[in-house]
Amino acid sequence: MRKHLILILVATLSVGLLANSDAREPKNVASIKTELIRYHDSGNYLKDQAAVINQAMVYLKERLANEKKSSSPEKLAIVLDIDETSLSNYASMHEMDFGGKLKDINEAEGKGNDPAIQPTLELYRYAKANNIAVFFVTGRTEQYRDATIKNLQDAGYKDWNDLILKPETYQEKSAAPFKIAARDNIEKQGYHIILNIGDQKSDLVGHHAEKTFKLPNPYYMVG
Ligand SMILES: [Mg+2]
Repeated sequence: MRKHLILILVATLSVGLLANSDAREPKNVASIKTELIRYHDSGNYLKDQAAVINQAMVYLKERLANEKKSSSPEKLAIVLDIDETSLSNYASMHEMDFGGKLKDINEAEGKGNDPAIQPTLELYRYAKANNIAVFFVTGRTEQYRDATIKNLQDAGYKDWNDLILKPETYQEKSAAPFKIAARDNIEKQGYHIILNIGDQKSDLVGHHAEKTFKLPNPYYMVG
């Protein structure tokens, strides 16, 4: 009897919560866009990105120090996502008024003129200077390989170990299986991935890295 009462109570609460969340008028899209611009222009977006990269840097240095003491050092590697992690698409997102069809967004990425996200570039340079391998694993597809290489180089990224783009034939809705398989493959080449940094959950789920770091991104969500 008591169990039934609890079940009814839970069901009632659930329906109530759903009804409430459905009933509220959402925030106006124009004011959300204003907030998105303010977040960027105030410098707070960059500050939040830098705070995350700073934590990753602390871990990287700690891990490097331990490795130097080790009697059997490993081939250390880090994995970086590209968009909103290594390069910023903010200018084109702003130009498209934070909208646009997937085709427009991809074409904007294909232009290859995105600036570096400076804290990530600094971490990248530090890793390379300390003989840590760096792999870019991106949801961009193979057709953007040349544009992406040029863009990464123009932005200051040099001598990465590999750039792994999604095959054109990839069918899964989420990028996660592709990214997990890419990291698995890096490990099979004998690397030990100490850091995996991205701005989407799908960049980071599924292990194959000692530590993951999630950068802020209120501008879009990729599955
Ligand atoms: Mg990204």
